[in-house]
Amino acid sequence: MEKDNVCINCYNQIDKVAKVLNLGQAELDILTIPKRILTFSFPVKLDSGDIRYFTGYRVQFNDARGPTKGGIRFHPEVNLEEIKTLAFLMTLKCAVVNLPYGGAKGGIMVEPKRFSQEELERMSRGYIREINNFIGADIDIPAPDVNTDAKIMAWMLDEYEKLKGRHAPATITGKPIALGGSKARNFSTSMGGAYVLHELVDIFDMKPRKTAVAVQGFGNVGMNIARILNEWGYKVVAVSDSKSGIYNKNGLNIKDVIQHKDKTGKLSKFKGSKEISNEALLELKTDVLVPAALEDQITKKNADNTKAKLILEMANRPITPEADDILLDKNIFVMPDILANAGGVVVSYFEWVQNSMNFYWSEKEVLERLKTYMTDAVKELSNEPERRSSKAS
Ligand code: NAD
Repeated sequence: MEKDNVCINCYNQIDKVAKVLNLGQAELDILTIPKRILTFSFPVKLDSGDIRYFTGYRVQFNDARGPTKGGIRFHPEVNLEEIKTLAFLMTLKCAVVNLPYGGAKGGIMVEPKRFSQEELERMSRGYIREINNFIGADIDIPAPDVNTDAKIMAWMLDEYEKLKGRHAPATITGKPIALGGSKARNFSTSMGGAYVLHELVDIFDMKPRKTAVAVQGFGNVGMNIARILNEWGYKVVAVSDSKSGIYNKNGLNIKDVIQHKDKTGKLSKFKGSKEISNEALLELKTDVLVPAALEDQITKKNADNTKAKLILEMANRPITPEADDILLDKNIFVMPDILANAGGVVVSYFEWVQNSMNFYWSEKEVLERLKTYMTDAVKELSNEPERRSSKAS
């Protein structure tokens, strides 16, 4: 087998597990070599009239469970190895929550802030022209990711439908509701994470009202999970964004914190709170720590100072592999990102189902179904050690 396309990061991640699971070489190859890799350059006309070429990628890692699924990111550091790794993680994520999907990821190497809306629209349409013969509701279904949103998905879908000459909403998820997007999609990642945590708290025999939570990151994911947990009675003692953090050992009223941030543009100076640095937030003595900002936040430098009982990885890869080992030694339970933040892809799946049926669900129906998928996945995962030991004996 030609090994040129092996995903090195995937190999490093799966190697340890492969030993535990006794995987053979063929299985290891399937899990480390993407099925299809598209690398292309394409022209975009700038507002000045000049033409500039951009590099784009789409990796369809594995389609054993169904059509591949994964976002498209616009970022200057996008590169093939990163896209392969993220496509691999999407493969695992869809399997963990039992979706009938494989995994994919795509991206354009670009700093989107440097381009006008019109240029970004031409770029989005140009990207779709390159991959249109390789995507589709039964083949590969893109979605938003870093620096891409519902508007970009709308441009991409419009270009796809123009090229194919037919209505095809199930080809792309994360669309605006008016174009067939799903209700609750915008806070589905956080809601999914909250369902996972609620299940864990029950397994660990903890009580929501007595559970103190610290959340790093106050964007879409961090703000919404802090709000939801607070509404459910959890004591959210600390939150932070890239500028600052706030802390109150008796708990913060997150609705008021959101209003304060909307009004002042920052978290600091929230009434009744103390300022806290991001480093200190990660090291707080709290029941639950929710990293919901960026990757590589808990590393071998600070993992030993972590004092939380549970960590819910809402960001993608917030804990480095070295830090993971340290946390394991300290007996800190980590719920990995591929389950904790899978709520977004579950509701993307619901969007695809609704588009295919042309029958749309209420927000209540979407959330009930999301809860079932997330809690079933936690239960299945928590039964796994017992299942394995009874299989071995
Ligand atoms: P976002 O851009 O809306 O928010 C990011 C937040 O992190 C902002 O509040 C920012 O100020 C804060 N931040 C940045 N640097 C920080 C630092 N050093 N310390 C503390 N806070 C910092 O992004 P998002 O959509 O909320 O995504 C957050 C994470 O969740 C990312 O890792 C993303 O890949 C992951 N994720 C998001 C979704 C989704 O549906 N949005 C789904 C799965 C995973």
